[in-house]
Amino acid sequence: MRLELDNVSIHYGAIHAVRDVSIDVASGSVAAIIGANGAGKSTIMRGIVGLVPLSKGEIRIDGRVITNLPTEQRTRSGIALSPEGRKLFSEMTVHDNLLSGAYLRRDARAIRDDLDMVYALFPRLTERRQSLGRNLSGGEQQMVAIGRALMAAPKLLLLDEPSLGLAPAVIHMMAGAIRKIALTGVTVLLVEQNSHLALSLSQMGHVLEGGRLVRSSPASDLLHDEDLKRAYLGDDPLVVK
Ligand code: ATP
Repeated sequence: MRLELDNVSIHYGAIHAVRDVSIDVASGSVAAIIGANGAGKSTIMRGIVGLVPLSKGEIRIDGRVITNLPTEQRTRSGIALSPEGRKLFSEMTVHDNLLSGAYLRRDARAIRDDLDMVYALFPRLTERRQSLGRNLSGGEQQMVAIGRALMAAPKLLLLDEPSLGLAPAVIHMMAGAIRKIALTGVTVLLVEQNSHLALSLSQMGHVLEGGRLVRSSPASDLLHDEDLKRAYLGDDPLVVK
């Protein structure tokens, strides 16, 4: 599914969090939005799923305008978000958290197949199937958050900071899982403060500063850009190849 943001602006009251952002994510590709804390990355994600209204601009999926659709209809159209901070149900098991991602679906057999797919993607979750959300490690929570988004059978998967707070070995596993997801043809838009990780997974990279897009380039160019290296990739120890 192709995603287009066309001159998107988003305000929180008087705060202008996102300014005239235009991004075109090709169907089946992986794209990254990188930028510092507070640059507006999560706000863009919330705008795409309809959790905050745009103050200007347009969002399209496969050429269809969705700017004013409620979140539920966007989910039905194939957009799923794995939010920053994971937002799991802490008193529900891993299994039920995963199933909650399929709440709009009625195709029992396909739901079962997708559950099998999620457990195969994250074998650790098979062992933790009956554990409550609140008893999971950060990495396990992140796996459930992504797995739950996948249970909506998305055509566009939005991943907000999938590596946040995770140990390097877990980040490495997560990178492998994201690559596998992308191979299934799902379009992936990833926001990350871990620029190196995000760019190494993506075809295109978009750099956000103070709510504005300052660069949109092939991720491989950004990975080797000296200025960007200094600003964002400097001492990043989490090189994922
Ligand atoms: P982070 O990685 O810390 O989430 P970010 O790049 O995702 O950073 P946003 O969370 O999108 O940044 O925030 C962008 C700007 O909007 C910041 O100035 C932030 O303080 C502000 N902001 C975010 N959420 C709200 C809110 N609910 N109400 C008011 N201001 C907000």
